[in-house]
Amino acid sequence: MTSNNPQTREWQALSNDHHLAPFSDFKQLKEKGPRIITTAKGVYLWDSEGNKILDGMAGLWCVAIGYGRDELADAAAKQMKELPYYNLFFQTAHPPVLELSKAIADIAPEGMNHVFFTGSGSEGNDTMLRMVRHYWAIKGQPNKKTIISRVNGYHGSTVAGASLGGMTYMHEQGDLPIPGIVHIPQPYWFGEGGDMSPEEFGVWAANQLEEKILEIGVDNVGAFIAEPIQGAGGVIVPPESYWPRIKEILAKYDILFVADEVICGFGRTGEWFGSDFYDLKPDMMTIAKGLTSGYIPMGGLIVRDEVVAVLNEGGDFNHGFTYSGHPVAAAVALENIRIMRDEKIIERVHAETAPYLQKRLRELNDHPLVGEVRGVGLLGAIELVQDKATRARYVGKGVGMICRQFCFDNGLIMRAVGDTMIIAPPLVISHAEIDELVAKARKCLDLTLSALQG
Ligand SMILES: *Cc1c(COP(=O)(O)O)cnc(C)c1O
Repeated sequence: MTSNNPQTREWQALSNDHHLAPFSDFKQLKEKGPRIITTAKGVYLWDSEGNKILDGMAGLWCVAIGYGRDELADAAAKQMKELPYYNLFFQTAHPPVLELSKAIADIAPEGMNHVFFTGSGSEGNDTMLRMVRHYWAIKGQPNKKTIISRVNGYHGSTVAGASLGGMTYMHEQGDLPIPGIVHIPQPYWFGEGGDMSPEEFGVWAANQLEEKILEIGVDNVGAFIAEPIQGAGGVIVPPESYWPRIKEILAKYDILFVADEVICGFGRTGEWFGSDFYDLKPDMMTIAKGLTSGYIPMGGLIVRDEVVAVLNEGGDFNHGFTYSGHPVAAAVALENIRIMRDEKIIERVHAETAPYLQKRLRELNDHPLVGEVRGVGLLGAIELVQDKATRARYVGKGVGMICRQFCFDNGLIMRAVGDTMIIAPPLVISHAEIDELVAKARKCLDLTLSALQG
């Protein structure tokens, strides 16, 4: 990268000398040097070279209300001055965490009125695993320990989170998954549906849950966890037959259902939660990301009343974090939810921007590189292929990474999961900004195709 700003080199040197970046090849990053993001406003980022970039990923799926909202900074500052920290252990509480618990109960699906707070989504899923096992132990069924999850699902990067997730490249490092977590196939028709129709494949993929329950024995299964739409796995929107069949299976067997709403929650689908979008009735929902619009770390687990009633009979739950329900994070989350409500941000996604984005994105279907465009709400995926009819990929070309680099260089953040390009812009994106996003995406598809042919 040519540099106009001598400070860029200095920052890159600090990165090389002192920083270990998450999900990165340390050595490769040293050779290339990171792009330094310095400021942001609305849906745009600026880097240290002065480049303006449309953030098609809302940071990491989290900056729901957009960058630069002073109200959140003010809420944090006010809370820091009043009470910067106090814990919730040992029979204490503080107003922000209580008000936030109520605000979340108000927007959560009916019958889900309690929240356990954590510092992140991963910690939310760790909490889930411990709470599920504690729940069944209280009910006198301590063998119901196994959690069923899905291949290519993403549930975080702690030991439990990475184990629950179905990313083999994560399992390979550190001898994961831990015992008591098993995976079933994902409902990824485009990649794995073969000759089946999407609807046939959706039923097949859902039936894998029943087969796994029967294989392990329902007396050994504690819960099934799934994202309503797999995010980091490549914005996998399941076929329409999938969730109805899963719901039938869940109704048949006595296991808990956990919806990981870390991406789908807080408006991403045009509803408050992905579980509202698909009419799922989860027993627990993991939340993070959009909860604070990423302005400050916070996660949690929303728990159904019937489950809480059982937990109430179990004595101490020996689990918690120093920063569970942190007052500053809670104040920011409250303000974030207030803005979403007062400005009717989710209503607007539902009625206006989601339909518009989905329509504009699908115009890319005519591009020779594009095998499928799919999406829901403000989530989208573009499958890059060599042959549209057979869905065959370019082999060994790293097409997704080529496209991602063109996007970066042309002022658009679009992420690549293999050869699937994905987007999840801030919920406040306007129609004009959607036009810009799609125009840039098309330009980068053209550049990628030329590079492949050249
Ligand atoms: C990001 C993510 C997590 C993990 O959240 P962290 O805050 O990074 O720990 C869990 N589940 C899903 C679906 C996610 O997208």
